[in-house]
Amino acid sequence: MGSNRNPAPFPKAFPDFNGIGGGLVLFEQQVHLVNVVPGGLVGGAVDGDTVPHLVLHHHPYNWTGDTIADILERPEYQGHTVNFKTYKQSYKSKKTCYNAEEKWLVFENTHEAIIDADTWARVQELRKNKRRPTRTGKTNMFSGIVRCADCGEKLYYCTNKNFEARQDHFVCSTSRLKGKDICPTHFIRAVVLEQGVLSHMRLTIACVANHEEQFRKAMGAKQKAEAKKELAAKRRQLTQAERRIEELDRLFKRIYEDNVGGKLSDSRFQILSDDYEQEQEELWEKLLRLNEEINEQEEQTKNIDRFISKVQKYLDLDELTPAVLNDMVKAVYVHAADKSKGHREQQIDISYDLMGILPTSLLNDLQNGETA
Ligand SMILES: [Zn+2]
Repeated sequence: MGSNRNPAPFPKAFPDFNGIGGGLVLFEQQVHLVNVVPGGLVGGAVDGDTVPHLVLHHHPYNWTGDTIADILERPEYQGHTVNFKTYKQSYKSKKTCYNAEEKWLVFENTHEAIIDADTWARVQELRKNKRRPTRTGKTNMFSGIVRCADCGEKLYYCTNKNFEARQDHFVCSTSRLKGKDICPTHFIRAVVLEQGVLSHMRLTIACVANHEEQFRKAMGAKQKAEAKKELAAKRRQLTQAERRIEELDRLFKRIYEDNVGGKLSDSRFQILSDDYEQEQEELWEKLLRLNEEINEQEEQTKNIDRFISKVQKYLDLDELTPAVLNDMVKAVYVHAADKSKGHREQQIDISYDLMGILPTSLLNDLQNGETA
């Protein structure tokens, strides 16, 4: 890869028409990327818009930001083979045209995954949330994930080249753009934010490490036995609904034949068929709803498991890095400061990846053994 303008290297998949599956050839660079990326990838994408610095600093090939962006977005790294990404207008044409993503043909799991699906999805999410560096060139790992608890907009990172680190702060963008009467400033210093988030993460980690079973219970509320019962009941309802739908089809056929054969009057037929139709419609709705509920519940259980194994990577967390933050935290909501008690109190809610907001009071109860 001599020139920066070369397209990103990517796994070359050779379709194998003997049915053994596609082969995969990796460039040497990619093997390097694989080594570098799992740690740097998530953290690296943080600095977003321009260049994922973390990755760039580590890799020796002088890739540009675009190249890295291209690499980060390739589905091939999850072990899939993607065909029909490009096409030629005619065999005479040298110009390559790009197909829309819907037209890609993706063969899943055709080769060994380099990046697991979770990490890949997380990176795509992070990349959607690009952020510009400030004029000073300083960035903060919270930019882009810290939001106003009242209006939901992002908080602006405010810094100045003369600022000491303790002076860097965030304010609500609505308040900056539309005035304080629309939304209060929600001012928070970057260091305070960092300390708050770190201590909450440590509390969460401690809960998972010391009270895993109670944590599961508290999070899923209806975990294990209860959830299983509920799921089984829902599946039964689902089967019943499916059977009744089929039965209604048969009934309809019968009244139709009876009507044609003269055994059933037109008006009677109309009434019955309307009834059947309505019942069937309701059943379809129920079917879809049940299906959704079942999926959601299964997903929730899976998410708790995934969250717990994620937490287990950070049992000794004592410093917040962009990589850890982006791996674990989806958003941080900052409330307006409350000065009614004579001192400044400010609530922050942390929305964890896979779990959502974990209230501090609940975590404290878990730590103190107060949750059954
Ligand atoms: Zn706001």
